Amino acid sequence: MNAVFRTLAVAAALTLSLPSAATVAADEVNVYSSRKEELIKPLLDRFTAQTGIAVNLVTGKEDALLQRLKSEGANSPADLLVTTDAGNLHRAKAAGVTQPLVSDALTTAIPAVFRDPEGHWVGLTMRARPILYVKGKVDPATLSTYEALAGPDFKGRICIRSSDNIYNQSLVASLIAANGEAATETWARGLVANLARPPKGGDRDQIKAAAAGECDIAVANTYYLAGMLTGKDAADRTAAESVAVFWPNQDGRGTHVNVSGAALTAAAKHKDAAVQLVEFLASPESQQWYAQENGEYPVRDGVAVSATLTAWGPFKADSLNLARLGELNAPAVKLMDRAGWK
Ligand code: FE
Repeated sequence: MNAVFRTLAVAAALTLSLPSAATVAADEVNVYSSRKEELIKPLLDRFTAQTGIAVNLVTGKEDALLQRLKSEGANSPADLLVTTDAGNLHRAKAAGVTQPLVSDALTTAIPAVFRDPEGHWVGLTMRARPILYVKGKVDPATLSTYEALAGPDFKGRICIRSSDNIYNQSLVASLIAANGEAATETWARGLVANLARPPKGGDRDQIKAAAAGECDIAVANTYYLAGMLTGKDAADRTAAESVAVFWPNQDGRGTHVNVSGAALTAAAKHKDAAVQLVEFLASPESQQWYAQENGEYPVRDGVAVSATLTAWGPFKADSLNLARLGELNAPAVKLMDRAGWK
């Protein structure tokens, strides 16, 4: 914060003595975000009110924003990329459009598993991808691990979306990290054989299909279920209420989790202000709003989760550094393809 204010003070002094000098634009941050505007804009406004630093927000799809960063190169106006999934954050890093985001405050606030080891991105919200089961149809005592979903007990009973979805790619990457590629390929073949229907739709559609009796078990990110439970659509609410959360792999590595996060762009021209904004988003107050607004979990300790999430109980999360999900994305995609996961 101080660095930016110092820069502003210097800029003001220069402007006074040199009226024709180009303005030093230290008082803004340009953000490319794949998150919906309503999930981030109120916090950006709060940041501006507190610091006087304007935030210019461009929203778009993950892939389009990354493409744009690549084609703009060093001329990109973006200082920060805000996107979901460690796999997407890793893709940005691998494309060379990010740089290390140096901040002791972030290193202290955010557990290492949710940060790129080289500092190119940090997680800002956490989401889990548990097993959901239809109440009354599935005895939760018969559930245990992701691995077990490939077994004979679940033939024709599982709904999960397609393999071109990054959430599933990251889930498979986590299985490769835990069990190796050969075992994970065998698992993927077993899972595909157990599907109730060819993959279609998003995570919400898997929950709806389970509620409608098409399958007994769905795999979906927690915030979709939370969104259906607390949303305005009565049919969605009813569907969501018919399923329960099962936290898999609690006796082992823990349930697969992921993040949405921010990366500092390689082209950032407002680096100090950008880092300041990320620190603001990681602050306890922001974490509470940011995570609760989308039914996600905070990435830092000591921040309350929403009532919906509290009702699902605590769980052990996989402690794999999420950068591994990005590194193992390519083998995961190839493996799913070989296994016939549409
Ligand atoms: Fe999502």
